[in-house]
Amino acid sequence: MSRRCPCGRRTYESCCGPLLVGARPAETAEDLMRSRYTAYVEGAVDYLLQTTSAAARGTIDRQQLTAYCRGLRGMSLTIVETAAGGPADETGVVAFAAALKSEGRRFVQRERSRFVREDGRWVYVDGVVQG
Ligand SMILES: [Zn+2]
Repeated sequence: MSRRCPCGRRTYESCCGPLLVGARPAETAEDLMRSRYTAYVEGAVDYLLQTTSAAARGTIDRQQLTAYCRGLRGMSLTIVETAAGGPADETGVVAFAAALKSEGRRFVQRERSRFVREDGRWVYVDGVVQG
């Protein structure tokens, strides 16, 4: 039995699943972004913290994040645009639209996220939420 990955691309086992359990690192910034979307909707808080830049990690309230994830349902993820973020890049930008449901309310988060490599692994730096 293989279920579809929450990010919508492939089966969970061939997509974000191995990333969330640390079996392999994200190859591209888009892969990391997709896995973080999946982590949000699955409540994989440790993964979200691990894949946030060292500078930003300390500003995250773990309990708040856990509570936010608990009330969150993922509807769909659309990658709008990517810039760099490939296997040979050190930085990347991913613009996406995430359709989510939180506490019963549907909304679409449109964001342009920045990613860098830290110790060779992609991490999330910050994002600008758009309209
Ligand atoms: Zn996925």
